[in-house]
Amino acid sequence: MNILIFGPNGSGKGTQGAVVQKKYGLPLIETGVIFRENIKKGTDLGRKAKEFIDKGELVPDAVTVPMILDRLREQDCAGGWILDGFPRNLAQAEALGEALDKAGMKLDYVIEITLDRSIAKRRIMGRRLCAADNNHPNNICIDAIKPALKDGKMVCRVCGCDKLTARADDQDEAAIDKRHGIYYDTATGTLAAVNYFKKRTKVLEIDGTPGVQEVSQALLAKLS
Ligand code: AMP
Repeated sequence: MNILIFGPNGSGKGTQGAVVQKKYGLPLIETGVIFRENIKKGTDLGRKAKEFIDKGELVPDAVTVPMILDRLREQDCAGGWILDGFPRNLAQAEALGEALDKAGMKLDYVIEITLDRSIAKRRIMGRRLCAADNNHPNNICIDAIKPALKDGKMVCRVCGCDKLTARADDQDEAAIDKRHGIYYDTATGTLAAVNYFKKRTKVLEIDGTPGVQEVSQALLAKLS
C-alpha cells in the first residue's frame, strides 16, 4: 500500500502520519525528518539543506527528488510506504508521478488535511520537540497535546523528558509565512501537487481544525 499525506505546516500532518503508520505498519518517510537528521549528523546533505530550511525555503528539487526516489527503492519499502512532506511542489509531484508510472506502482490513498492558514501559523509557533522522541506531540497552543508540568517546568506529555525545544524555523514568522506561501500556492506549490494527484486518484480530504483525536478518528474512518 502506498500513501501520500498532505497538509500545511501546523495541520498535525506528522501526528496523523504516525496514526496511519500504526494502522498499516508501513515505513513513514518524512522529508523534513531526513533533512533534520542529516543536519544533526553534520553530513553534506544536511549542510546543503540547512541553508534553505532556515530561510523557510524548499531544499532544491535536484537534491530532494533523487533523495526520496532512492529512499522508496530501499528494501523496507518493498511492501509499501507512507510519504509525508513530499511532494511539496508541482515539479516534485510530476517527478513522483512519472517514477510511479515507470515502476508500475499506484497510490492507494492520498490524504489531504485541510486547515485555515492563520490557525496553522498559531499552531506552528506553539509546537515543541521532545529530545527523546520527535514523534511525541507537544504544543503549547493546543489543549489536547499541551506539555505536562513537572516542578513548574514543561516536560514531554508522553515520556516526561524535560528537554522540550522549539525548532528555529518554527519561531521565525517570516519563514512560516514563506512556507505557507509555498503550501497554499495552487499554481506551482503544494496545493498544485495535491491537484495533480486529484486528477489521477481519489484524494481523502480531512478537516484539520478539530482536536488531534477527532482528526485521527475522521481519518481512520475513511481508511479501510
Ligand atoms: P517539515 O518538517 O516537513 O516542516 O520540513 C522542514 C523543511 O524541510 C521545509 O521547510 C523545507 O525547507 C524542507 N523540506 C521538507 N520537505 C521538502 C521537500 N519535499 N522539498 C524541499 N524541501 C523540503
